[in-house]
Amino acid sequence: MIKKIILSSILVFQFAFVHAAQIADFVVLNGNFWTVDSSNPKAEAIASHQGRLIYVGSSAGVEDFIAENTEVIDLNGAFVVPGFYDNHVHFEGTGRLLYGLNLLDVSDEKNFKERINDVHNRYAEGTWITGGDWSAYEAWAEGEVATAGNVVNLDDSYGSFFLPNKEMIDGFTQKRPVLVRRFDRKVYLANSLALELAGITSTSDDPDGILVARDKDGKPTGALFNPISGSVESTVLIKDNVRELFRPIIPTPSLEQRIAETRETWKKMASVGVTSYCDITSNPVYVDIYQQLRDSGEMTARVRYRPPLDKWKSMNDLGIKIGFGDEWIRFGATKAWIDGIMGNSSARFYSPYTHNPSSRGIWRDIMFPFERSPDNPEDMQSRLERLAIQADANGIQLTVHAIGDEANGYLMDMLERIIQKNGEKDRRFRLVHAQVMTDRDIDRAGKMNIVAEVQPFHTSDDMRWMEERIGKDRSRGAYAFRRLWDSGTIVSFGTDSPGTNASRYYLNPMLGIYAAVTRKTLSGMPEGGWFPEEKLTIEEAIQAYTINTAYAGFEENIKGSIEVGKLTDFVVLSENLIEISPDDIKDVIVDLTIVGGKVVFDRDK
Ligand SMILES: [Zn+2]
Repeated sequence: MIKKIILSSILVFQFAFVHAAQIADFVVLNGNFWTVDSSNPKAEAIASHQGRLIYVGSSAGVEDFIAENTEVIDLNGAFVVPGFYDNHVHFEGTGRLLYGLNLLDVSDEKNFKERINDVHNRYAEGTWITGGDWSAYEAWAEGEVATAGNVVNLDDSYGSFFLPNKEMIDGFTQKRPVLVRRFDRKVYLANSLALELAGITSTSDDPDGILVARDKDGKPTGALFNPISGSVESTVLIKDNVRELFRPIIPTPSLEQRIAETRETWKKMASVGVTSYCDITSNPVYVDIYQQLRDSGEMTARVRYRPPLDKWKSMNDLGIKIGFGDEWIRFGATKAWIDGIMGNSSARFYSPYTHNPSSRGIWRDIMFPFERSPDNPEDMQSRLERLAIQADANGIQLTVHAIGDEANGYLMDMLERIIQKNGEKDRRFRLVHAQVMTDRDIDRAGKMNIVAEVQPFHTSDDMRWMEERIGKDRSRGAYAFRRLWDSGTIVSFGTDSPGTNASRYYLNPMLGIYAAVTRKTLSGMPEGGWFPEEKLTIEEAIQAYTINTAYAGFEENIKGSIEVGKLTDFVVLSENLIEISPDDIKDVIVDLTIVGGKVVFDRDK
């Protein structure tokens, strides 16, 4: 455990005279620092002045920087790494879940009731309770590793899962509308008030494209079914008529709620050692919230906010390029999506899914229209490519989501054409997820100095169904971190918090590092790891979560390692990550989190 000692002022006063020009306001000594600075990999102590490191070295050497008002922490040998930088956080969604409803692991009446009641007690009067995603773990047990063999049953397209009714929650929600959904969005559950607001009664017809479940007297039970077309399981393609029906009725969350969710998420980040993150999809109102809370001194994690690619022109009109912003709130990149996800078999592949030969997954809308290239009418070009060429030419960084092998291959081709058109430069193209790649594309990614913006816990999560869906051979190219690393690709880590519709894992870097180093599920399966030849070392995994993500954001000069001149952002852990057994990494906890030379999390408090 960590002991905090404020050294006696008489003792330190002598030192203050010696080096008056270099007084620290914050000193940490007797630590076991893993600095991620290759020229100085280990240290015992740091000194910080106004949020920046002014000394990294020995505990004896740091004493020169201590004066009367210096805050001094003695770590008693505890292990320290640079603050974790999460490359991919859906911040708004994370906050909504942390502060709101999560039913992923719920598939029974008792828990369904209890979870909704918890949120009911927390939310302001009248606020809708939405989301939930019940029964996900009923579909995919945690820790299970699926093998090939199961085939989608096209005659049972709704599946047989827990089906709640409104009686379960009506008792305590007479005044609060509730509309929650199953993980696959095929079924929703509304309480009586929500049904009333939508005009669904015993005598009303079913709204267009929605099947209202009713009891024998015609009274709605609360369950609302979306239509299912074709064989695709995709939540991207599902016609979500229920959401469309309720969209005009459900108000957007209030600013107060969003601020409460923001505080909750930063609290969570501090408790797991995340000191910087990329915000992927939050509503632009969050930029305002960030500024407000930064100015009031409440911001405890630094953000790089990424608007969608089709906003590149607005950014450009305002002169926003890579590097714009300050050390707390920064811009410079855009985000686009070209295919679906593995969780619901909508990722785009060259060949059909093994468990569903009628589907290769989908392309997102940004791929269309697919038109003649203005440069050469013989070439066809996606809307994505036209936007990307312009954004890139104007100094804006590109980050594009690709999961299936064809989606990743398309981006490699596109990047080659962008380089040809706009020329070679330091663009750090971020291949988001880089999930399943062919050997040729792994090789090309290295040659083009691509950043693989990966979230290693997807490995532990997705190995539960990967081989069942795409077979063993293609699975070899899934989360191929070792080969990506060796090809010269910059491998950067993060979480994709709050997760997918199949799993919620929030922000804990230890789970991702564990997954990258062991390639096992949380329950330790399979023994030896899944495609173990793709494991990274613990040192590499720490690097991917710190300096590599800083590099991916053009911030390696101020973040990502414990070096003089950089921001004083670091984390004290309960164990020495380098020395413990890889299987134990997932249980390591954070004792202290420091951001800008200030303690933002202390487990003892
Ligand atoms: Zn994401």
